[in-house]
Formats: sequence, structure tokens, C-alpha cells
Amino acid sequence: MSAQSEFYARQSTLPSIGPAGLAKLGSSTIAVVGIGGVGSSAAYYLARSGVGRIRLIDQDIVEPSNLQRIHSSSRDDLYQPKAEVMSRILSEFDKSTELEPIVDTLTSGNSEELLKDVNVIFDGLDNFRTRYLLNSISIQRHIPYLFTSAVAEQAHLALFNPPESACLECVMPNVKDRFDESCETLGVAPGTTGLTGAIGADAAIRHLTGQSTRIADQIMTIDLAGPDVLFSPLAKNPNCPACQEAQTNEIRDSPNVTLLCGEHTANVLPTEELDIPLSQVSIDLPADKILGSSQSVLVFSQGAYTISLFRNGRVLIGGVDNENTASEIATEVWKVLRQKGF
Ligand SMILES: [Zn+2]
Repeated sequence: MSAQSEFYARQSTLPSIGPAGLAKLGSSTIAVVGIGGVGSSAAYYLARSGVGRIRLIDQDIVEPSNLQRIHSSSRDDLYQPKAEVMSRILSEFDKSTELEPIVDTLTSGNSEELLKDVNVIFDGLDNFRTRYLLNSISIQRHIPYLFTSAVAEQAHLALFNPPESACLECVMPNVKDRFDESCETLGVAPGTTGLTGAIGADAAIRHLTGQSTRIADQIMTIDLAGPDVLFSPLAKNPNCPACQEAQTNEIRDSPNVTLLCGEHTANVLPTEELDIPLSQVSIDLPADKILGSSQSVLVFSQGAYTISLFRNGRVLIGGVDNENTASEIATEVWKVLRQKGF
């Protein structure tokens, strides 16, 4: 028995998977968008289940308050991009899964390219702004979309498969991301995020191997306080804006500056795509201000702010509460870079 067959022996013994199911998973691609507590847990179980290719998409870095729930992370991962951290963790136990870390913001401009060849979109996000974007791609490209959310002691999961079935906006339209409903204010336990990722990964695997799952036409709510599990049916809305937009292939534009939900952090997209030599930029900074660096990001403190400068010019600013301030800080960072000839 080869090392790989041995690794997956218990899984291929499952009648619902078998050697054929394992081969099917090996030829599948899943995009996990958002590598926080839920996304990291999902990616962990998807890789261990033999999914052939996993695209790990996340714009963020690991902060001290994230370590509690990012699966298998350690203090060494602080201030490193979440997508790269998870890619490294997953590559350590089995080489048969191809891992594609994407350290970038998913926008209306790049989402089609980043999601075009995937078999399932796994949503590990914490905001509806980006979820609606995933939903639009799901409808237009006919890619099943696995919605998850985990806040406080509750988890929600649903597998949307539009246009045949309802889409996310058919059942949850016009949801505004609210600071007072985020994990920062309501909290979340690592068991809740881990469980959500594991159940979501299992549902994705069932879908890919041609099995049914109860979350395909229903939304599952788990309340860990009971624990209680509730299923609510999903119905298509004939007036759903996302389903209607899909007929004209429209995608709503992404904003250039966004406040991340409940994190006092803003993400500012560059006005033009750059290729900044981060290692050279770091030479000019006092060593005690540098919090972390990798090939794709340089994290440093500047006064009360934590600045993450990404190679393409994107700036993530920690310690801000409004978009104008974030925009001004990013513009200043770009100005200094230009003055220094980068
Ligand atoms: Zn819809």
C-alpha cells in the first residue's frame, strides 16, 4: 500500500466515499474564501479528505486575537498572511493536495478570475458585502456556494446551488454588516468555528461525491447553548435582485475602501497595481516598528496604527474607525513610497 493510500485508508473505507469518491475529490477544486476560524477548519478537513486543489483566499493577516480559532496556528504565525499560514500548515502533512494561497481582496474586478475553475465556493467570511459577491459569481457561473457563519454560540450553514435553487440573496437580502453583531462584540468559541468548518467541509465533500446533504435546500442553525439544531427550508424569491442581475451578467462594483466588520481595521485598495519590493522598504523602517514580514506583506506600527503594506500596494490599517482617515493614511503611505522611488 502506498503512503498516500494508507493516509486515506479509513476514508476510502467509508461506503459513501470508496476509491471512486476519493478519486473524484482528488480531481476537484474548492475555493475557501476567508481563512478565519471557520475557513481554516474547513480547509484543514478538505485537505485531509483528499480534495485535489484548494484555493485559499484571504486579504488579512493573523492578529493576536485570531490565534484562538485559526486551526493549527501558532504564535510564529502572527502578522503573517492568513492564506499563506494555512497553506504552509496544510502542506506539512500531505503533499497530494495542491494549495494556492491568494493574499488579496476578492473584488468585482478579480472574482471571476479567482473563482472561474472551482467546483465549490466555500464561504468562510465574516461580512455580507463579500458574500453577495460570491453569491453573484455562484449564480452566473453555476458554481455551488456553501454559505457559513459562526458568531457567538450560533452557526448557520446552507448549500446554495442557483439558478436551480434559491441563492443567498433570495433568502437573506439587504443584510448590512453591523459592528454590534460581529465576533468582536458578541464573541465566538473556537469549538463553534471549528464545528462549522468541519460540517461545511463534509457537506462540500458530499456534494462533490454525488451524495445528498440536508443543507442543500435548507439552512441549518446550530445553537451550541442547547445544543439545538434547526432546519429551515429555502425558497427562491422571484424578485431577487441577484438572480435578476445574473441574467445580464452584472456584478455590483466593489468599493475601494472598506471598514472590516468589528475589527477597527480598514482595507484600502491601490489606485494602480504595484509591485513593491517589501524587503527594501523594510530597511528604511526602525526595526522595533516592524511587527512581521513575508514575501507578500510588511506589517509595521505607525503611531497608533498598525499598517500592513501588501506587495501590490494594498494597505490594511488597524486602529481606524472611518473610511476617510483610512484613505488619507493609505495615500500618505503611497506618497512616501513614491518619494523613495519604489
Ligand atoms: Zn436569488
